[in-house]
Amino acid sequence: MSVDDEDTRKVQTAVAGRAGSDDPVFMPFDAEDFDRFLEHYPERSFYCGILLGGCGKRLSAKRYVDKKCHFAHHPPVHCKRTANSESSADHLYIGKALQLWFAQQGQRGVNPSYRPSGHLVGEAVDLVHSAGRHVLRVQMSRRSKAEWEAADTELAGLREHVEWLFGPDSMVANWQMERLGYALRVQCRTVGTTRSVEIGTQFPNKPVEWTTLSECRLSERGITTPSLTEMHRGVRGEFQRADRPPYSAAPVAFPLAAKTVAFTGAVRAVESPVSAAAARIIYHADVQPIGSAVVRAQLSLPADAPVPEYLRVYLLQGAVLSSLALPDKPDVKWLISADGIRLIEKAAAAMWQGLSSHPAASKSKPPKDRAIATTTPARHAADVLGVLAAVIDQTSLALDQEDMDSVRQGARELERLLGTELPRTDALRARQELQECEAWIAERRDADEQRASESLTSCLDWLDTEGDCLAVQELRRRIREAEDLSEEAGDHFWLEQEERLEQWQARLAVELNRPSRQEIRALGSIVRRALELVVQSKQVLSWEQLAEWAEPKLAALLPEDKLAVLVEADRETPESRPLLSAIVVESNRQRPDPAYWDVLFELEREVPHETVKRRNWRSVLQAHGIV
Ligand SMILES: [Zn+2]
Repeated sequence: MSVDDEDTRKVQTAVAGRAGSDDPVFMPFDAEDFDRFLEHYPERSFYCGILLGGCGKRLSAKRYVDKKCHFAHHPPVHCKRTANSESSADHLYIGKALQLWFAQQGQRGVNPSYRPSGHLVGEAVDLVHSAGRHVLRVQMSRRSKAEWEAADTELAGLREHVEWLFGPDSMVANWQMERLGYALRVQCRTVGTTRSVEIGTQFPNKPVEWTTLSECRLSERGITTPSLTEMHRGVRGEFQRADRPPYSAAPVAFPLAAKTVAFTGAVRAVESPVSAAAARIIYHADVQPIGSAVVRAQLSLPADAPVPEYLRVYLLQGAVLSSLALPDKPDVKWLISADGIRLIEKAAAAMWQGLSSHPAASKSKPPKDRAIATTTPARHAADVLGVLAAVIDQTSLALDQEDMDSVRQGARELERLLGTELPRTDALRARQELQECEAWIAERRDADEQRASESLTSCLDWLDTEGDCLAVQELRRRIREAEDLSEEAGDHFWLEQEERLEQWQARLAVELNRPSRQEIRALGSIVRRALELVVQSKQVLSWEQLAEWAEPKLAALLPEDKLAVLVEADRETPESRPLLSAIVVESNRQRPDPAYWDVLFELEREVPHETVKRRNWRSVLQAHGIV
């Protein structure tokens, strides 16, 4: 496919003024709204905006009576923009609306960033406020749970407070609800000639409650919607009080002197809110700064750092000490985050006496799966029972925390323990715990599949409304997403969804077979030569006859491509001459082929009013010498 294939796209959005503008423009579909719309933009300076992922070229506004109005590039087109639909400038509408809202909340100079690092335009918008301490990220494009968590960790490393707003396609809100109990959503709706921004509050198993930004206010936790105010009023009234100092729970971080802090007895924390998929992993460990006492603390290490062995002593590198200010964990005290760790030789370990003589280091086995792997069954019965107790503790906690990875790991460990010789009561206890884990995993899988199935339905609904306006690459991407979801949906992939997905797959196959721009031009000159001959013999003919006679490929063209071929055929027709396309008629020969009126429009000729179309066409035929 060449880059200029996309000439026939229906571009619904643009920016006004200049190519780099962040001033979004939405083209209403109806001809009536079109006229009102142009009153706002008398100078018609519309551009295929850089912030829309566009080529920056000027666009013309096309008015249609019998189909959606849209913007169009002037040929030749070299535009790789993929998002052209009604919603394709929503990130700009949302950014602008939030900027205005922040100003109304007393936060001036908040500028939306439409290209946060690692993102393409349209994927996310960042608004940094409260003197740079807080960031609001609007997630527009779809993200997996792991990607979202990684982004959240990254932002949390830069700002004191991270808040998320999820767009309709992000599909992340469910995980935020798992974490916070609710999620904030954002969407745009067409109202007249603009897109209006709405903020939603979503609680599990309830429809999203939508409101306008003017109903929301900025509180110490960020955007507070009327529904959240309701919720907090129910939970704890003091949240309402405006006289509290903002962000009283802001965490602090102290850098720790290099080569002074060591640890041992590290165990991966199951209650860590940071999952295995995230960029960092949390451990519990016995930590000792030189000359101080040993404390049990939480360690946060990069996920790619070596996994510390339970019995060994390590030095922390690039460590900072911070308070853990997690909204749902008021009791967690300190967290040490480090860039990396280094194993300490026995001799050097003497500097951290507390660690080398610490119970963790003298214990023969750590309470984790490494212990199970190295334990000879029944040789150290007491050890095995100790491990079993630790594993059961871990899995119960993981079940409470609904931490899938840890529950799975716990189940595997229980299975292995059940393979060893356990006293009967302990075996019974282990089996019960294992059954509980398995039941929960199955239930959870079912819920995940159901969720994927719901996402699939919204994806298909979206395709049904927007799919016709998409460039082929974007269509292909969306269909792939739907295909992925259909796999994730497992037993919840329904026949009805399968049929709808197949329809879109078939549609895509047709789109992919569409002629390139070059082929359109070639077909255009074939058609031109054919029509010239027909005009000379004072005849008219239908598109089907033309295909039969001149080029069989014409018969299978989509309406858009047929139009493009006719436009090419008539592109060289002098302005003083009537269009050749006029002699392509409907099969009853009473009317021109409907594409004729669009050819007039595309070539910027006057399109006659509905009531005089017939008469006008007759006079064109006469001008051709056909009576
Ligand atoms: Zn463009």
